[in-house]
Amino acid sequence: KKIIITIDGWSSCGKSTLAKQLAKELNYVYIDSGAMYRAITLYFLRNHVDWTDTQEVQKALEDIQLEFRYNENSLQSEMYLNDENVEYVIRDLVVAEKVSEIAAIKDVRTFAVNQQQEMGRKKGIVMDGRDIGTVVFPKAELKIFMTADNKIRVERRFKELFEKNPNITIEEVKNNLEMRDYIDSHREVSPLRQADDARVLDNSKIGMDEQLKLALSWVHELI
Ligand code: C5P
Repeated sequence: KKIIITIDGWSSCGKSTLAKQLAKELNYVYIDSGAMYRAITLYFLRNHVDWTDTQEVQKALEDIQLEFRYNENSLQSEMYLNDENVEYVIRDLVVAEKVSEIAAIKDVRTFAVNQQQEMGRKKGIVMDGRDIGTVVFPKAELKIFMTADNKIRVERRFKELFEKNPNITIEEVKNNLEMRDYIDSHREVSPLRQADDARVLDNSKIGMDEQLKLALSWVHELI
C-alpha cells in the first residue's frame, strides 16, 4: 500500500533532507512545495509584478507554468519555470527575502495548492512545506512536523548559502529565517501550524540516520 507523507515545519529544519531520504528509501516521489513558491517569487521579481495588486497577480499567474523534472545525473527532480531550470537560482537570498510575502497572497496559494493536490492523486509521495498536512493533504496517512534549535538552523543554512556566496553574513541568514517564520506563522491564509495528528520530530538532538529510522518506523506502522 502506498501512502501520502507530509513534512511541515519551520524554515531550515532539515525537512527536505529527510523527505528526500524517505522518498529514496520507499521509492516514492519527493515534492518540494517551497520550490514552487520560490519560482513564483522569482517570476514576480524578474517581471516587476506589483504583488499588492490582485489583478496584476492573477494576470501574472496565468503566465506561469511550473513543472518538476527529474534529472538523471543528480537523481533529483528540479524546478522548472516556463521551461527554464530554476532549481539553483530560487535558493538565492534575493528570492528568500520576498518569498514569504508572496506565499501569503491568497491567489498565489490557490494556484500552488491546486497543483500540489493534483500531484498527490497518485499516492506514494513525500511532500514538504508549511501547510501540507493541514491544508494540502489534511487526510494524509502520515504527517510529520519538524523542529530544530534556532541556532542549529541558522548555522546550517548559513553554511549552505556561504558556499555559493562568500559575502553573505550569519546575521542576514538569521534575520531571513526569523522573518520568514514570523510571516509564515502569522499570515491569514493557511498559516504554518502543527496538524493535530502530526508526529513531532525534533532534529536538533538526533542525527540523520536516526531520524530516517524513526520516520520509517512510523511508515511501517501504517503500511
Ligand atoms: O521550504 P522553503 O524554505 O524553500 O520555502 C520557502 C518559503 O515558501 C517559505 O518560507 C514559505 O513562505 C513558503 N512556503 C509556503 N508553503 C509551503 C511551502 C513554502 O508558504 N507549503
